[in-house]
Amino acid sequence: MSVIVLIEHTGGTIKKKNFEAVHYATQIAKQTGTTVTALVLGAVAAAEMESLGQYGAQKVLHVADSRLDELHARAYAGALIAAAQNEGSKIIVTLHDIGGRMVAPRVAVKLGAGLVAGALSYPDTEKGFVIKKAVFSGKAFAYVNILSDVKVIMLMPNTFPATKIEGRAAIEQLDVSFGEGDFGVKVKAVNKVTGEVALADAELVVSGGRGMKGPENWGILEELAKELGAATACSRPVADSHWRPHHEHVGQTGGTVRPNLYIAVGISGAIQHLAGVNGSKIIVVINKDPEAPFFKAANYGVVGDAMEILPRLTAAVRKFKQ
Ligand code: FAD
Repeated sequence: MSVIVLIEHTGGTIKKKNFEAVHYATQIAKQTGTTVTALVLGAVAAAEMESLGQYGAQKVLHVADSRLDELHARAYAGALIAAAQNEGSKIIVTLHDIGGRMVAPRVAVKLGAGLVAGALSYPDTEKGFVIKKAVFSGKAFAYVNILSDVKVIMLMPNTFPATKIEGRAAIEQLDVSFGEGDFGVKVKAVNKVTGEVALADAELVVSGGRGMKGPENWGILEELAKELGAATACSRPVADSHWRPHHEHVGQTGGTVRPNLYIAVGISGAIQHLAGVNGSKIIVVINKDPEAPFFKAANYGVVGDAMEILPRLTAAVRKFKQ
């Protein structure tokens, strides 16, 4: 009857957001008087899997089929259903990220389960099983009561901490039989982003918009990011104009980030952009137009020309670090 959590990994490395999901599931397990089982698919070292115990998983179910090294939505959904049935789980947790979005709805449909996407709270079990989620691109919240017996929760990354506890998970192998159709999608190439802070996991993000004028000006933005140890991001028109790669595009149609600090440079603050960044803890806006809508969502604002402000900010950070 444990709460089951789908763990994603990249080449055997489990990223922080999964530890957040395990921590989240641990709190739900406490609320519902059960335990947490993590499901790991494909090749991951035993020590890496055991480390899930430090975030509250008592058990890891491991499906060691090498075809699962890469994300195959149907196969992942099949494995998650098999694991849930193996454990008698009624509560299934995934992340609200690309992997979760591909897998969780399939699982919910197959199990006839209610699903909450983009969960921002623990379930309120006194009112039923009510979970808060953002709607209308973060302009409002909905409180969704899952009435079905089996419940699927897609947790928004960077919402809860990945708090460590004493613990080591016991690993059990799980055999799952897959059909050929489960691997119908062939991955032709994987474009690895190296040498930068990964955007999805970044605590600090420096992001540029059309106000940066062109790709030739990105050096000063990257210098600030480097000095801060931050990831770089951009608005959609910037990615559409090929000034920056598409994986940096944040917003309604791009990635969602929830860093501790989001510095927006030359970005107007359209609702579609805010949808991907308004969960950031602190937002700093640099814009030459004092009427730019982004200032309404900002904790701190600097009115001025990015070309002047960015080098000064970088120099100040450098000085502060000395
Ligand atoms: P602009 O709106 O052109 O703003 C540029 C800003 O830079 C201005 O505020 C200007 O004052 C400022 N500026 C100019 N020069 C300087 C300077 N020298 N120094 C400082 N500031 C300066 N957008 C996204 O970002 N992400 C999405 O996911 C997304 N999805 C969308 C989905 C749909 C269905 C639609 C219709 C739109 C979507 N958009 C998205 C586009 C969105 O509506 C905006 O058009 C876009 O966010 C604007 O990008 P921007 O702020 O970089 O550019």
